This record gives sequence, C-alpha cells and structure tokens, in this order.
Amino acid sequence: MLFGTMRINSSNHLEIGGRDVSELIKDHGSPLYVYDETHIEDMIDVFQNNFKSELFLARVAYASKAFLTKAMVELLTKKGMSLDCVSGGEMYTASMAGFNMSRTIIHGNNKSKEELEMCFDLNTGYIVIDNIYELEQVIEIGNRRKQKMKTLVRVNPGIEAHTHEYIITAKLTSKFGESIFDKDILGKIVELYKGNEYISLSGFHCHIGSQVFKTNPFVETIEVMTNFIKEIEDTYNIKTPTLNIGGGFGVYYVDGDQPVVVSNLLKELITKAEEVIKTKGITLKELIIEPGRSIVSNAGTTLYEIGHKKETYGGKDYVFVNGGMTDNIRPALYQAEYSADVATNMNGKKTGDWTVAGKLCESGDLLIRSTSLQDFQSGDILAIYTTGAYNYSMASNYNRILKPAVVFVKNGQSRVVVKRETYKDLIRNDI
Ligand SMILES: *Cc1c(COP(=O)(O)O)cnc(C)c1O
Repeated sequence: MLFGTMRINSSNHLEIGGRDVSELIKDHGSPLYVYDETHIEDMIDVFQNNFKSELFLARVAYASKAFLTKAMVELLTKKGMSLDCVSGGEMYTASMAGFNMSRTIIHGNNKSKEELEMCFDLNTGYIVIDNIYELEQVIEIGNRRKQKMKTLVRVNPGIEAHTHEYIITAKLTSKFGESIFDKDILGKIVELYKGNEYISLSGFHCHIGSQVFKTNPFVETIEVMTNFIKEIEDTYNIKTPTLNIGGGFGVYYVDGDQPVVVSNLLKELITKAEEVIKTKGITLKELIIEPGRSIVSNAGTTLYEIGHKKETYGGKDYVFVNGGMTDNIRPALYQAEYSADVATNMNGKKTGDWTVAGKLCESGDLLIRSTSLQDFQSGDILAIYTTGAYNYSMASNYNRILKPAVVFVKNGQSRVVVKRETYKDLIRNDI
C-alpha cells in the first residue's frame, strides 16, 4: 500500500515526497531511513483536529520512543504538540532541540536519581510516578530544592489489549504502575502526597498495550479509569483532574491489518469522556493521549540495495539486502510483519515466495518471512514500508554495522536529519 505522498513515477520507480528513491540513494547512500514529512504533519493534524472538547482540555503527547531526533522535535514544536519521554536521553534530545519542556510527560518504571533531578532542572511537565519508592524520591527532591512538580500516578487498570483481542482484569503482574485493585498501596501513595507543599497529584495514567485495532478497549479504559478516579476522589476527598490513557493505536503493516479510522476513534473517546463527566460527577479537566506508532510508522520507509539471491537446497528462496536486524529488530524481536516492493520496478508483477534476509551473522536476521516480489536484479532497491516507528529508535551496532542516515523528504526536497554513522563513530568511545 502506498502511504502519504508516495507514488509511482514515469520511470516505474517509487517516489516519496516528490523524490525518486534511486535519486535518494544516490544522494544519501543506503540503507536509508526515509520519512515523508508531509505525512507526519498530516497525522498530527488528524489527532489535533479530532481530539478536542469544550468540556475539558484534550492533549496529544507524541511518544518519543517511537522515533525521536532533533528534527522530529522541531516538527512537534511547530505543531504545538506535547511530548512523552522515558529517559534522560529523550529529555536531553528534546531540550537541546529547544522544546518547551513544560509540555513534556516523563515516564519510566525505574527512573534514575539523575533523571529525576533532570526533570527538576529542565522544569518538565508531569512526572508519571511508577511506584511508592519513586514518589518518596521525588518528594525528597522537591523538598530539598523547594521546587514544585506536578505528577500523575501510573496505574494498571487490568485491561490488556493487543491487536484484535483485549482482556479485562488481566495482567496484574505488569512491571508498570500499581494495580487499581491494590487499595492498600494506592492509599499509602495518596497519603504521601497529602500536605506536601511541592509535589502535587494531578491525576492518573495508564497504557493498555500497542498496535490495538479496536476502539472498544480505549472506551472501556475511560470507563474503568473514571470509576477508579471517582472512588479515589470520594475516599480521600481530593480532586484529580487529569487522566492520561496512553497510546497504542494500531496501524497498517500488512494485508489483512484493519486498524480503526483514527478520526472516528478520537471522536468516540471524546464523546465517552464528556458522557462520564456528566454522569459520574468527576472533576475531569484534562484528557491526554500518547500516540507514537500511529503518528510516524506509515511515514517511514527503509530503502535497501538488493545484493544476491539464494535458492536453498531445502527450497526456501532468499533475497539479501544490505541492512537487517540492526536497522529493524522488530521481526526478530516479536515476529513483526512488513510489506515490501522492488522500488525500482513498481509496476512489475509480483511473483514467488521470497524471504527477505539481512546481512547480519544471525539466522534470525530476517526482515520479511514470506512475500512475493516484482522481478529484480542485484543493485535494485527494495523498499520496506511502515518502518517509521521503533526502527531507527531501536537500531543497534551489532556486528559493528553502521546505523543508516535518516532523511526527511517534502515537496521534492530531501534533507539529512541524522547523518550516516562512520567507522570512526564506532570506536569513538573505545579506549
Ligand atoms: C509506548 C508507549 C506509548 C506509545 O505507544 P504506541 O503504540 O507507539 O502508540 C505511549 N505511552 C506509553 C506510556 C508508552 O509506554
């Protein structure tokens, strides 16, 4: 499937952002991560235009971990987005790119002392408190620095959702947050906040899964979380006006994937939140969502040069490309599926049953287990689609492979936003 500004040009090549893929490789080398900037902007617009309410502040915070570079931060700034960070490195990147750090939300189940101090140094937005020990640390820092900090508490609502299925009252063993059923620990947490001058409890956060294809799990999350909030507000006589329901909105990768239409999903969430405000009498003033994958994944395409093919004695046919699990670990890590085209023969008929393999010394280094492909020769370009999320951000130097460059394309122009690594980069920290 062609996304965003992709089209097939008169040379029978794939074009993204008005640039021919073979020109992109000539200019920037391969493998190459290509991002359709217009498509990212359009996705952000879909989120911002459909997630709003008269009754409360509806905020969209992009999840950095999907893909973050300084150029991405600048684009998010331009669009007035909020930002999720899960590490000192993500906070550092955002801050060095000039992001307004009061618009950040800081996650993590085991933030280091340095990372917590960094939140205060940078004046971040909400710290999402994972557990009581972390809350004790944050209170100590606030008291010592006499500095205010707003927080949310991460809870586990017992809803677990992946792709098509979701289960209620499942997975109460997750490493993230405290269970909404653990009244004892939640009581202790709420008590710790009481009377503290610096550290305030603004509300709660949860995140139910990823690559979720249905609306219902999210609507259910609002239902369960607002029941929980009502109970907390009544029991402890406090107001917790902010609810953050996380990300996880599914996207199309391969034939058969049927994600919901994001605009419809967002409208349903708003409707549900407005309804519970009216019926439950809770003080919901701010509803936050945290999309990562659904903003960048379809905007990203990885271009590889095809090397050899191999028809094995056992009958499996391989096509080898000049990258692999170092630039896309997802197929090896969790059997993620991708679709591809020979980007220099787009109108060719797709035949055969090919396994796309990388160049790493690892037999699990496969990018696609089974796909038909257009006719190709060594030197042709293979485009793997939907690599915008959790590819560059998960890249490694295994086998001392260099990380590819990242380019943004838009209106016939390409610009490098992350330089290709060099061999010198590899030994930079070796002593
Ligand atoms: C990973 C994560 C997200 C983003 O998930 P996507 O599936 O990329 O939308 C949002 N919030 C939290 C807390 C996360 O851990």
